[in-house]
Amino acid sequence: MSELLVKMFFGGFVRMHVLYHAVKEPVFGVEMMEELGRHGYEVGPGTLYPILHQLEEAGYLSAHAEVVDGKRRKYYRATPEGEKALEETKVRLRELVKEVLHDDPPTPSIRRTERDRD
Ligand SMILES: [Zn+2]
Repeated sequence: MSELLVKMFFGGFVRMHVLYHAVKEPVFGVEMMEELGRHGYEVGPGTLYPILHQLEEAGYLSAHAEVVDGKRRKYYRATPEGEKALEETKVRLRELVKEVLHDDPPTPSIRRTERDRD
């Protein structure tokens, strides 16, 4: 996975995916790294924890700590704002992605539209 691709695109995918799981149930860091690994994303703690903190700071996730097997574990759950953000993201993602994946006829190019107007 190239650094550039991660920086340019995958960061957004990973954020969206974390939010998706946090809407369904409380999630914690190690679990999310395994889940993302299952999807082919090798995301380390140095990438994932800042993402969790950003989402928390933005008000999309809320965190609470629990002690599991004698260890303190921080769980993250989507807030109502987080759920709304995910819904809006899904709509916007679908709109852009359906054309890229050729599930939808391409829209006329901007250039062609301009020419037609002449
Ligand atoms: Zn998943």
